[in-house]
Amino acid sequence: MQVVKTPEELQALCLAWKREGRRVGLVPTMGYLHEGHMALMDRARSLCDKLVVSVFVNPTQFGPDEDLDKYPHDFEGDRATAEAHGADVMFAPEPGAMYGPGHATWVVSPELERNLCGASRPVHFRGVCTVVTKLFMLAQPDVAVFGEKDWQQLAIIRRMVRDLNIPVEIVGQPIVREADGLAKSSRNAYLTADERALAPNLRKGLLKAAGRIEAGERDVEAVKAFVREEYARTIPMGEIDYVDLVDPETIAFVDRIDGPVLAAVAVRIGKARLLDNIFIKV
Ligand code: AMP
Repeated sequence: MQVVKTPEELQALCLAWKREGRRVGLVPTMGYLHEGHMALMDRARSLCDKLVVSVFVNPTQFGPDEDLDKYPHDFEGDRATAEAHGADVMFAPEPGAMYGPGHATWVVSPELERNLCGASRPVHFRGVCTVVTKLFMLAQPDVAVFGEKDWQQLAIIRRMVRDLNIPVEIVGQPIVREADGLAKSSRNAYLTADERALAPNLRKGLLKAAGRIEAGERDVEAVKAFVREEYARTIPMGEIDYVDLVDPETIAFVDRIDGPVLAAVAVRIGKARLLDNIFIKV
């Protein structure tokens, strides 16, 4: 596996592969790779000839008071993991190489950014859409794999690719969890032992809510209140950012549950802001 540091080098390499008729796969990550990322790499590996894994803590998707400076990293560990999961290239640029002086162009998708994480993190998806577009222009992938853990991100990228006619197939990968149900995340490293012990209740609340909906509950506010009460009881130190039910594709709030719905939550536990979601077929 080759480690590539500059955008120019990655683009030249990938354009050469494309000229040879190779099918290129891309898995964008922020590193500190765990089993969730590994599932994405394995899926992508099975769908392409040449696999590019990017490891880049993208500064533009962090707000001024967020954890950019504290975000965990492990370059050597990531290199070993990417190689073991079949990457041909690990792309690990410096921020200055991705955003030159005077960078002034952004990709935004305002409608899908309106709710959930977009509401609490105003510049987040602008940064995500811009860096993912740049990665698409550099790696020229035929296929790119993203996790359902960041469901809103996946929905926005699907829409962006459709709206901008970007010739890449977007594949969504189910959430990989710890044995106790906690969604794997690089940010789980921020949790203390006490916080870690309660974090699986995020998932449990969602499963109970799904059970209520499957049993016939159709009132959105009742489901949201139920999840909030569950979290107040089972994660008393948690600060709820949002508990919402949205259309899985448009991320618009639903008034009544009468079709497939996504229940999505973000809860701050100590230093970690944790996300989870569940797709509920009705
Ligand atoms: P990140 O490094 O956290 O920005 O994540 C990079 C990619 O991995 C994104 O597409 C995430 O949705 C995906 N991902 C992160 N954690 C998980 C997980 N537990 N299961 C599935 N995909 C994940």
